Amino acid sequence: MLIPPKITRFLSRLRGTMSPGEAASRLSPRPDAPATIRTVPRSSAGTVSRLWSRMAASGVPESSRAALADDATVASAEAYGANIESMIGTVKVPVGIVGPLRVNGLNAHGDYLVPLATTEAALVASYSRGAMASNRAGGISATTLSDGVLRSPAFRFGSISQSGLFVDWIAGNPDLLTKAANATTRHGSLVSVEPVIDGEIVFLLCRYFTGDAAGQNMVTFATDALCRAVVEACPVKPISWFLEGNYSGDKKATFLGVTQGRGRKVTAQVDIPAGIVEDVLGVTVDRILEYGRIANLGSLMSGQIGAQAHYANGLAALYLATGQDVACVAESAVGYTRMEASAAGLKVTVTLPNLLVGTVGGGTGLPSQSAALDLMGLRGAGKAPAMAEVAAALCLCGELSLTAAVAGGQFGSAHKRLARGRK
Ligand code: NAP
Repeated sequence: MLIPPKITRFLSRLRGTMSPGEAASRLSPRPDAPATIRTVPRSSAGTVSRLWSRMAASGVPESSRAALADDATVASAEAYGANIESMIGTVKVPVGIVGPLRVNGLNAHGDYLVPLATTEAALVASYSRGAMASNRAGGISATTLSDGVLRSPAFRFGSISQSGLFVDWIAGNPDLLTKAANATTRHGSLVSVEPVIDGEIVFLLCRYFTGDAAGQNMVTFATDALCRAVVEACPVKPISWFLEGNYSGDKKATFLGVTQGRGRKVTAQVDIPAGIVEDVLGVTVDRILEYGRIANLGSLMSGQIGAQAHYANGLAALYLATGQDVACVAESAVGYTRMEASAAGLKVTVTLPNLLVGTVGGGTGLPSQSAALDLMGLRGAGKAPAMAEVAAALCLCGELSLTAAVAGGQFGSAHKRLARGRK
């Protein structure tokens, strides 16, 4: 049989560099071997104030200590206490700025400076180019269409009929569910509970408004209280239950998220005259559309959830800069980009059904992250829907610039010039 090279490399290392016995021993657990690195002392109290002693005790080399815990980090170390365990410092990711980016949104209405934290050369330049083309066309229209964060607890019963009786009881007791969940938060509220039955298993898709928080903790605490109240009051007792049945799409790209939305669903659009496309992006509308058709085919053939070029690039950099949970890029960077011919030139639309963003809570209050939000004018209460619209507009800029770069044959040369040419 012809074995693909990716596997033969593993096989040749297994055969060529060690005997079968040595390989088995190398891959076996080693509970009695002494640790080669000292255990990091764990402590819940004084987590941050013990930064130096933790570094010393865990043997972090002297030469690395100042880079991990510079003066600014040490001076503001206590601010990190609610966001980290076993802290030994911070890593510095460079922050660049895109903008001003004009957003004509229902919530975000104005010119925004957008901070992006990244180590990828060419990224800020590329988004800036998309912003420049969009600005010259009058800005990007953007609207938050819906919001609601899911948690999906799961309950296991002895039979299908018990599942049905349980769901019947849930349907008859909305006040009990709402009261239990809403007692855990001043700003969040339970919106709906949708049961999904699979034999003797019942998932409850619990959807919440989360105010200006991204809301992952909020929905966890509220759903925990809801489940406990249900289990106590419901005469149909589950054999077991779990706070999250892995149905909600939390930190995963899912079709559920595409169809129902998790977080904030936002759509953004710009119509750019052909002359501006050519002037700023250096390529014709026809060439962009030709490439767009092929890129859509590629999305289909590769089984992408959604059809877009690289929402993850802009979102990861924006999330890092502004204290969002970066792991939520896994679900947030899903959606659909459309590029169409318009009377003026090129109409670009992006729709992201799952943007998890907040302007309070999470990491948004940390020193540099809150400064980045301030720069956008989007820190604090009342700002989360605008933040979602700016994030979607940013994604549109990235789609526009990358698509134009590939269509115009600039993709490789721009990266070479910006990533390698400056060294
Ligand atoms: P949070 O920081 O845990 O909670 C937000 C806090 O802000 C709440 O205490 C809320 O009060 C308060 N608040 C004040 N003004 C508000 C306003 N206008 N709107 C909304 N809340 C307001 O943040 P979160 O968004 O719930 O959770 C985000 C964090 O959860 C991230 O750090 C993420 O990494 C983490 N996370 C947790 C889980 C999990 O399952 N637990 C999963 C993934 C990520 P009230 O509660 O009284 O309304």
